[in-house]
Formats: sequence, structure tokens, C-alpha cells
Amino acid sequence: MFKRILSCSVCGGDIKDGEEIYAKMEAPSKKVMVEIKAYLKDKSEIICKDCYDK
Ligand SMILES: [Zn+2]
Repeated sequence: MFKRILSCSVCGGDIKDGEEIYAKMEAPSKKVMVEIKAYLKDKSEIICKDCYDK
């Protein structure tokens, strides 16, 4: 199973299994949608619930 360690881009804390997260990203173009996984990895910021609620 593919497992990637995620961390919050605000506080840098690790995201726990099952934790609610928020992703901030630029709206992808149609061309980019084809490579959405690579796009997400490159362009998205993961934000944990604690930081998002602040
Ligand atoms: Zn955080």
C-alpha cells in the first residue's frame, strides 16, 4: 500500500492516520488534471485541523 507521510505546512506537525486535513491548492488547468497526483504533490499545502481553525 502506498503510504506517504504527510505533515502540516503551517505547524510542520505530522498528520495522524484518520485526522481531518485541509488542502490548499491552485486551481488546476484541464491539462494538469491528467496528472493530478503529481500536481497535488507539487502544488498543494496540507493544513491540519488545528491550524485551519485558528
Ligand atoms: Zn498544523
